[in-house]
Amino acid sequence: MRLSQFHLRTVKETPADAEIVSHQLMLKAGMLRKLAAGLYTWSPLGLRVLRKVEAVVREEMDRAGAIELLMPTIQPQELWEETGRWQKFGGQLLKIRDRKEAGYCYGPTAEEVITDFARHELASYKQLPVNFYNIQSKFRDEIRPRFGVMRAREFLMKDAYSFHLDEASLAAEYRNMYATYGRIFTRLGLKFRAVAADTGAIGGSASHEFHVLADSGEDAIAYAVDAQGADASDYAANVELAEALAPGARPGATEAMRKVATPVQKTCEDVAALLGIALARTVKSVALMGDADTGFVLALVRGDHMVNEIKLAKLPGLGEYRLATEAEILEHLGSEPGFLGPLAPRRPITVIADRSVAALADFVVGANEPGFHLAGVNWGRDLPEPALVADIRNVVEGDPSPDGKGRLALARGIEVGHVFALGDKYSRAMDCTVLDADGRAVHPLMGCYGIGVSRIVAAAIEQNHDAAGILWPAAMAPWQVAVCVINPKADAAVAAAAEALYRELQAAGIDTVLDDRGLRPGAMFADIELIGIPHRVVVSARGLDAGTFEYRARGAGDAENLDRAGLLARLS
Ligand code: ATP
Ligand code: MG
Ligand code: MG
Ligand code: MG
Repeated sequence: MRLSQFHLRTVKETPADAEIVSHQLMLKAGMLRKLAAGLYTWSPLGLRVLRKVEAVVREEMDRAGAIELLMPTIQPQELWEETGRWQKFGGQLLKIRDRKEAGYCYGPTAEEVITDFARHELASYKQLPVNFYNIQSKFRDEIRPRFGVMRAREFLMKDAYSFHLDEASLAAEYRNMYATYGRIFTRLGLKFRAVAADTGAIGGSASHEFHVLADSGEDAIAYAVDAQGADASDYAANVELAEALAPGARPGATEAMRKVATPVQKTCEDVAALLGIALARTVKSVALMGDADTGFVLALVRGDHMVNEIKLAKLPGLGEYRLATEAEILEHLGSEPGFLGPLAPRRPITVIADRSVAALADFVVGANEPGFHLAGVNWGRDLPEPALVADIRNVVEGDPSPDGKGRLALARGIEVGHVFALGDKYSRAMDCTVLDADGRAVHPLMGCYGIGVSRIVAAAIEQNHDAAGILWPAAMAPWQVAVCVINPKADAAVAAAAEALYRELQAAGIDTVLDDRGLRPGAMFADIELIGIPHRVVVSARGLDAGTFEYRARGAGDAENLDRAGLLARLS
């Protein structure tokens, strides 16, 4: 690529509305342009990086035996009615109507679509196990889109769905995907941790999140370390789960819930106390609130940001209760439209309920219907027992690790992947069956496996940047090498030498960009550093006279003068 024929548009000023460094650098480097809240155009430069990530994900999924297909972004309401998620998914589901008034949503995920595909395409156990994936845009109407593509509304996800005859096969594919995710994030050059996530009814190790470690992460993770701070065991969990597993967890939330759910003013601390929750250090306050879509929700708030919601209401019963309108919630919580914060710990909040305490008795604390988070858990499965919220207690750095092998250390993480054993939840709801070896129709067991392809781009920058800009891991860099030409318009020999080197590197399979824009050296180098190209080669008249090129690795100290052979050896 010749930069003179590309669209590169960098800016010097740090954009005022970008809070975290990845968002700032993506805007400064001209990778993104905001269209509306949570909606971004990827510029040609941004797209190059996104495609690199996509390619690694695709290669490793293919290598793992998964099969790519492509599902539409628009999904019909009827499918979502079959699983009950049309009502239950909540405010993140963007519902739309066509000219015939038929209902659709913009897919936030694709369990329904893939299960519909499977019930038509899979007939026999001989076709199992199978794992289908696609890399496709998703839309979630996030309460508070922020941090650019880190938490966008439209974003690119790789989502895979596997189908199995029995538990052993599902478990094997789960391990396969777990290992594949490790390979993907390693190849992408990211420092990451796989952590146990809340598994709901499935139990054991059937849900893991993959977190890129970064201080700007919205999640808190806990892991076991020894006295020297080295890993003491494999134990690593998201903090909510660590809290639930920690010794001394408090029972009795259901009882407490009944007391809370009366129409009285409480402070966040009161609500927390009644629920038996000592607030984790990472969670500064809680609020109980009503929401027209979801009924009652316990919101965990960090700073001014709602980090998680815990569903409190058992959904099938919800019709009997009056739900708060958004206007009421805003009036009580005094917040911007679409976001139910900020909330200070001592700020009075109103528990919105107009029914008797008795009527609330069948609310299930921690109900995890598909479509809702339970303490960091993804949609997609159930939690039958009502105790989990009660079991949350305060995890503090230095607490004994639940496996007894060390002390807990805490870190911030960005969730970039999530693997999940779903069981027969969707195949049963949508009556997807295959014939087993005895000719009986059975509901296949399913797993689902997501990766936030676009989020990874931002997460990588959080981990890899300096004062001058981005330091891409090799696998994600828009180009590996920038050949910078000093004064190409005035010096034909320099321009020709640079062109020859550029062609030679391209021919050697090294993804190279030729900076032939004719900028002054300072401005040119600043751009190349900002956009994070790992290797820079300068072609100048002085170098040409000496028979050398000036080489510098991004992030390394000094430049070196290398002859052609030395340079090629360095770059290949
Ligand atoms: P989060 O906890 O950050 O809201 P999630 O648990 O809701 O994510 P999943 O349903 O597990 O997300 O989706 C799979 C992956 O999609 C996530 O691990 C994450 O990397 C990515 N993802 C989810 N929501 C967004 C978003 N709003 N913007 C960008 N990527 C996202
Ligand atoms: Mg999550
Ligand atoms: Mg998740
Ligand atoms: Mg989410």
